[in-house]
Amino acid sequence: MNNVRPSCERIAPLVPYDPKYLPAEAYLSANENPQDVPEEVRREINRRLKAMSFNRYPDPLANGLRDRIAEANGLERECVLLGNGGDELLFNIALAWGGPGRTFLNLPPTFSVYEQNARLTGTEIVNIPRRDDHSIDEEAVLARVAEGGIDYLIVASPNNPTGKLASEEFLLALLDATDALVMVDEAYFEFSRMTMRPYLARHKNLVILRTFSKAFSLAGVRLGYILGDPAIVTEFIKVRQPYSVDAVSQIIAETVYENRASFERGIVSIIEERARLIEQLRKLPEVKAYPSDANYILFRAEGAGEVWRALYDRGILVRDFSAAEHLTDCLRVTVGSPEENERFLTALKEVLIERRKA
Ligand code: PMP
Repeated sequence: MNNVRPSCERIAPLVPYDPKYLPAEAYLSANENPQDVPEEVRREINRRLKAMSFNRYPDPLANGLRDRIAEANGLERECVLLGNGGDELLFNIALAWGGPGRTFLNLPPTFSVYEQNARLTGTEIVNIPRRDDHSIDEEAVLARVAEGGIDYLIVASPNNPTGKLASEEFLLALLDATDALVMVDEAYFEFSRMTMRPYLARHKNLVILRTFSKAFSLAGVRLGYILGDPAIVTEFIKVRQPYSVDAVSQIIAETVYENRASFERGIVSIIEERARLIEQLRKLPEVKAYPSDANYILFRAEGAGEVWRALYDRGILVRDFSAAEHLTDCLRVTVGSPEENERFLTALKEVLIERRKA
């Protein structure tokens, strides 16, 4: 037969996630770390990889790495689960807490993968849009969860792409107000230094998501993890792919985690550069730069789509959100190395001056 029946009905309208990665001279679009893993850590990784068996399956739960993360967080192994990037765990929450007849509460604009996974799993989505300044409409969220029927929600803190942390008071009120599973996505935690971890013991419905992709320079390796109650972790384990965290990734992440202190200088530099970038962006009359607790800055400029193109023509790739709902005329720039940031600022100034003349 030279014909095939259509895929499942709810898949048909979905559009695959597109990171919009294009060749460029300065990659400031994906919130990656501008520094790669330090040379001495790479040497140790290479040494350990030489001793690895390629022909054997990896430890399905990556218990070596799990124990290290658990210990560093004052938790038991059973409270930690690794995933193939935070992305896999975001998929798993939709599989385990979503599904037909179940409801996900979303706070757009936020990380688009949350909504995509809900749609993929046939989960109903209730949207409570953020206010104009991108802060969470806290009263509306608390009122909605009080009505009941929400199965899970995800609060990115800091939020991507808007940049700010959710307030701790709000998150605690939310955890008290609902029995829904509340995931606090702390993918950018190392740049905000704020975490809900101390509240895990008191709130069984809290699960925290973290990643190695940002502060620890491992976006290419694909490792993320959750911290939560063992009963929650068990449900995530039921829906995961058994060997999603491969042996190479386990070795790399273990070595990086043991040496995490050597990433601290880079993190501090990103935090300092973030302040400098915001200060410089705020000097440009055409630009509205939003505050940030992460390693990126969202900014608004009229004709953002054209500004994006003109920056790209100068070798600088930022992320274009100008066509996204709630983000009209917004671009997001990742905090890069001081040289990359300078290049971006110089190019942006040039582009804006040209547009003034036009
Ligand atoms: N959460 C947020 C808010 C993110 O921005 C990202 C990365 N873009 C992730 C989770 C997932 O990251 P990764 O899969 O690389 O761990």
